[in-house]
Amino acid sequence: MGKIYVAGYGKSEIHESGGGGGWLFRLLLTFLFLVVMLGGALAAMVEMYPPQGMLILEYHKVNDRTKDDYTVSPTEFAAQMDALKEDGYTAISVLDFLRAKKGKQALPEKPVVVTFDDGYSDNYTEALPILEKRGMKATVFMVTNDIGLPGYLTWDQLRDMEKRGVELGSHTANHLPLTEMTLDEARDEAQKSKLQMEWKGLKTIFVLSYPNGKYDKYLPTILKEEEYLAAVTGDPGLNTFKTDPYRLLRINIPPSHFGIREFRLRLWKAKVLAFLGLWQNVGEMKD
Ligand SMILES: [Zn+2]
Repeated sequence: MGKIYVAGYGKSEIHESGGGGGWLFRLLLTFLFLVVMLGGALAAMVEMYPPQGMLILEYHKVNDRTKDDYTVSPTEFAAQMDALKEDGYTAISVLDFLRAKKGKQALPEKPVVVTFDDGYSDNYTEALPILEKRGMKATVFMVTNDIGLPGYLTWDQLRDMEKRGVELGSHTANHLPLTEMTLDEARDEAQKSKLQMEWKGLKTIFVLSYPNGKYDKYLPTILKEEEYLAAVTGDPGLNTFKTDPYRLLRINIPPSHFGIREFRLRLWKAKVLAFLGLWQNVGEMKD
């Protein structure tokens, strides 16, 4: 096998293969080499045979005032929406996707749903103008008991958003994880939040976003009985007509440290998972 030179060490530094800790070094080098090669091959494959499916993005707040893991700045948000348009994506609603699944409308070539959880007022003041300027739809999941509280959307804002093409969904009444309560309590959370919005004159609520992304095998049945047609999770991936509609896949977008490349990397990760068929929530949940 002979000797190998280690890059960066200079030619006088030679590792004898086979002797001492050399085998471990060689193993590591081989491993690294394989990782780089496989990564490259995977990237090429995903580029050549892009997996089909709908992206769903998950945002919370869009403003310059709060600095936390849930806030994207308006500048960054606008750049991300531009990147989506540049990459050929068309923003649709979850209902558009469900209608397309029933053959009632066509899907654009690269569909994306831009969603916001919790219902912060900046979704109206900051995000909506950015979306409208680009002709993009969005979906907002409301915690109904927070509507009208300081920092949260008001009923008037919700009505106006709906008029301007925003789809509204439920993020339950109290934002408690549905998996940590009795099934009756979970049903209550789903039912009350839906009725509250519908009684206030908003359109029928068809989609729910699980608080903290938490769900279990019992919740889809309850949601179906309460006349929800779909629910979104925090599991990353791409949605196809085979994806369980009560476990739609969604990519969380926190504030980035590396700009738009980080955003594209997150989308790419979802594509890789879809390409490999890993954790894509296909079919009904098993025990
Ligand atoms: Zn939430």
